[in-house]
Amino acid sequence: MSFLYPIKSRNIDGRQQTVTKTLPISSAFGPRGSGFHNGIDIPVPVGSYFQAPFDGYLSNSVNPSGGNQVIITSVDSTQRFGFAHLKNLEISDTLIDERDGRPVSKGTIIGLSGNTGNSTGPHLHLTYTLNGEKKDPAKLSYDFTNVQPPIVDPGPVSLPLPVFPGFAIIIILILILLVTRYLKGNRGIGNIEGTQSLQT
Ligand SMILES: [Zn+2]
Repeated sequence: MSFLYPIKSRNIDGRQQTVTKTLPISSAFGPRGSGFHNGIDIPVPVGSYFQAPFDGYLSNSVNPSGGNQVIITSVDSTQRFGFAHLKNLEISDTLIDERDGRPVSKGTIIGLSGNTGNSTGPHLHLTYTLNGEKKDPAKLSYDFTNVQPPIVDPGPVSLPLPVFPGFAIIIILILILLVTRYLKGNRGIGNIEGTQSLQT
């Protein structure tokens, strides 16, 4: 069974860049300090989009440790993904404004990454639960083919700078040369005509 990768895109300078492969993990699943890290930490900029890895139902919670959290439970309720440290629980109308208990289909955007709760920097704390038991989300198989079109803002289109100025300068020089030659040529003809008219 494979799941859609929970991070749909990364917010880079206000643009959503599509994620095409598994992102590096800053803290793995397993024993950590005196406790147990029940998920994985993936650093992602604030405002990145999280998506539903499967069809399911959403629920919200807020706590001092996980901050704003959203949980998606599979339709048969055997599996669950938890997303912690979200930016907020109310997201814009283009996404979802009322999440609690709401059915969502695979690929729906279910939250924005943030840095709320007990967090030392913007990241996603992702958990996966199978039949009530926490499992390592890094060991799952992920699908990067989003069911929705990728949200990519192409941004300003520009010619590659190292090539463009050199190319433009050459074109301008050729134009100057052609115009100069044309003007010189015209003046020459004018002079000859002038000379001829003087002779008559
Ligand atoms: Zn964590």
